[in-house]
This record gives sequence, structure tokens and C-alpha cells, in this order.
Amino acid sequence: MTDIAVVGAGVAGLGAAYALREADAAVTVFERRETVGGRAATRRRDGCVYDVGANYCKDDDPRVADLISGELADGLVEAEGPVWTFDADGEIAEGRGDDARKWTYRDGLATLGERLREASDATVRTGTEVTGLAREDGGWRLAVEAAGDATPPQAGEFAGETNPAAADAFEADAVVLTPPAPATAYLLDRADWDGADESLREDLVEAAADVPYRTILTVALHYPDRTDLPYYALVNADKDHDLGWVAREECKPGHVPDGESLLVVQPSPEWSRHRYDDADDEIAVAAADRTAELLGDPDRYEFDWADVVRWRDALPDAGADRDVLDRGAASDLFFAGDWVAGEGRVHAALRSGLAAGERVAETL
Ligand SMILES: Cc1cc2nc3c(=O)[nH]c(=O)nc-3n(C[C@H](O)[C@H](O)[C@H](O)COP(=O)(O)OP(=O)(O)OC[C@H]3O[C@@H](n4cnc5c(N)ncnc54)[C@H](O)[C@@H]3O)c2cc1C
Repeated sequence: MTDIAVVGAGVAGLGAAYALREADAAVTVFERRETVGGRAATRRRDGCVYDVGANYCKDDDPRVADLISGELADGLVEAEGPVWTFDADGEIAEGRGDDARKWTYRDGLATLGERLREASDATVRTGTEVTGLAREDGGWRLAVEAAGDATPPQAGEFAGETNPAAADAFEADAVVLTPPAPATAYLLDRADWDGADESLREDLVEAAADVPYRTILTVALHYPDRTDLPYYALVNADKDHDLGWVAREECKPGHVPDGESLLVVQPSPEWSRHRYDDADDEIAVAAADRTAELLGDPDRYEFDWADVVRWRDALPDAGADRDVLDRGAASDLFFAGDWVAGEGRVHAALRSGLAAGERVAETL
């Protein structure tokens, strides 16, 4: 039987595994984190469930919408209420003409990863990082290690050594790479690809390394009381405010106990980059202050707990050169992810994963 290795258990990697579920292949997914879902991430605290990466998945892509509302629908809920806008002066205005459904799950959007994992027939090895790739005898040899807590490499940081003795080997006939573009570039840059067209490896590294990313902090602010408001979330339309997004997690069924409030605040990429290395409590206080000012609500200065999540490579601002990535197929190397789709969205990443899985299936 053919062995397929998928690197990354975000929705793209799990989408690829799902598309291969009926193929005559053994699919193994490697995920460096202990949980699946990647940037479709959820945390829990004191009876609250809150989405700290993607806030929801839209029903924009018909294929993905059918899959989520069909086979993966168990526990699916919608964020209730419209998205309003605000501008650089903090002026709030009604609506942004966006009628798409905003899906999450009662247990949070990370459930989408769990549902995909259940629906695929793949072996998913969480807590396992792929640290090396080598082309051998017409297949691929992966170096896999128990993941440490090292942060993933950033664009431009390709140096670094792995101790090969510490890594296990995994042989695969084909590989699907789904880490964010900087981490994919890092793996390819160090790939041992003797005998291959060296310019292809270099072109692939460049295609992935060229993708620009936005940094975003997520600040969850919990309040013991709730104010009724006419919207689910506010988005900064002119991209000139310190805050980019303020969402009321209580608008998602099952996420926040009655009477309490949990705001998911995402400051602008500039603010997030500037504050990235600050202490969590400083970030939380500064974000709460800006939020209270924006909402004109003095009670929002006084949160009772907060949680800060740092996403250095949060959203790709452009897609990679698809023609270059497609050339990998001749060497049994495939790519998927939001940066491959050219859109930093859950539905686009999942669609990209399904497409990559189908391409691999065609080669079997
Ligand atoms: C703050 C924030 C807000 C967002 N808001 C929205 C939103 O509201 N709606 C929306 O649709 N989208 C939103 N997005 C974007 C959405 O989350 C992403 O586009 C989507 O989740 C990307 O999925 P992916 O599978 O391509 O990548 P990822 O989810 O990043 O998955 C890649 C996986 O690969 C793993 N990995 C990396 N390197 C290795 C390695 N060497 N070995 C093993 N595993 C590895 C990573 O741990 C990760 O789990 C948001 C993103 C962020 C960060």
C-alpha cells in the first residue's frame, strides 16, 4: 500500500487526509502541537469556550459548506448577530453587507479539526514535529521528533541544525506539506534532495519564503456582566485604528455562561507587532482600555481575567506562486494551506487541503 505523509493537522492537512480517506493508501498526519485544528484554535476557562485564532468559518465555498453542514455538522452552531464597522476615529456604523453564515461549534472552532480527523481514515500523530525531509529511492524520508515548545521559524530564518540521531525516520511515497509558508520554506531549505533538479528546490523555497504575513495578537477579556448590544462583532473598516476586531463570544451558543461576557479582541497588525514581546497583563490592560474607549463603556476597563495568544504568522497577505508549487508533484511533493489558496480563511485552507488530497489520489 502507498504511504502518504501529511505535515500539519490544521484544516488544510486534515482536509487532505479526508480527501484520501477512500484511497488505497495509508495516510499519516504529523502535527507538532498536542491538538489538531491549527489556527482554527479554541481555549476553555471557567465554563467559557472561546475561539482564539479564526473566529468562525464562513459558508462562502459551496464544497466546503456542504461538507461542514453535512458530514461534519455535529455540534455546529452559528455566531448570532451582524458584524458592524468602526473607523479610525472609533465611529461605529451599522452593517457591512455581509450575509454569510459564520460557523463555529458549540465546543469551539477547533472541533472542525476533530470532526475532520474522525471522518478521515488517517493516523494522526500529535506532538510530533517533522524536522527533516530527504528524497530517497523515489520516495521521501521524514525525520520526526517529539515536539519541543520551540516557536516555528519565521520568514528568512532558515539556518539551524537538527541532531539526526534524535529523530525517528518515516518513509513515505508522497508528502503533503501544509505548515504556514515560513515553516514550509524552512523545511524545504534544509531538505536533502540529492539528484533532484536543484533549481526546483530553490524555486519552491523562494515561492514559500516570499509569502508576506500579518502578525496578530488575540486578547480574550472576560467580564462578570454583560451588556446587550445589537451586533456580534465590530471590524475596523479603514484599517487605521489600534484595534482590528472586537467580537462578543457570548453570541456563539454554548460559549459563555448566561449573564457573563467574553470579548475576543484582535488589535491591528501594527499594534500587535509593536506589543508582541510585552507581558500578557500589559497587553491585556492596553487592549481592554482601547476596547472600553471604542465601546464607550467604562465597565469594559474592568475585566476579571484575560488570555493572550500570539500569532506571529497569523494571516498570509498573498498567495504563493501556484505554478512553482505544482512542479513539486513530479517529485511526489504537494502543498496545501491558506497561503497556497492565497486567502487567509478557514474555508480556503480546507478547500486547498481537499484539492491537494484529490491530486495525490489521482497519482495512486
Ligand atoms: C488571529 C486569527 C484570526 C483569524 N480569523 C479568521 C476568521 O475569522 N475566519 C477565517 O475563515 N479565518 C480566520 N483566520 C485564518 C484561519 O485561521 C487560517 O487561514 C486557517 O486556519 C489556516 O489553516 P491551515 O491548515 O492552512 O494552517 P494552520 O492552521 O496553521 O495549520 C498548519 C499546522 O501545521 C503544524 N506544523 C507546522 N510545522 C510543522 C512541522 N514541522 N511538523 C508538524 N506540524 C507542523 C502547525 O502546528 C499547524 O497546526 C484567522 C487566523 C488568525 C491567526
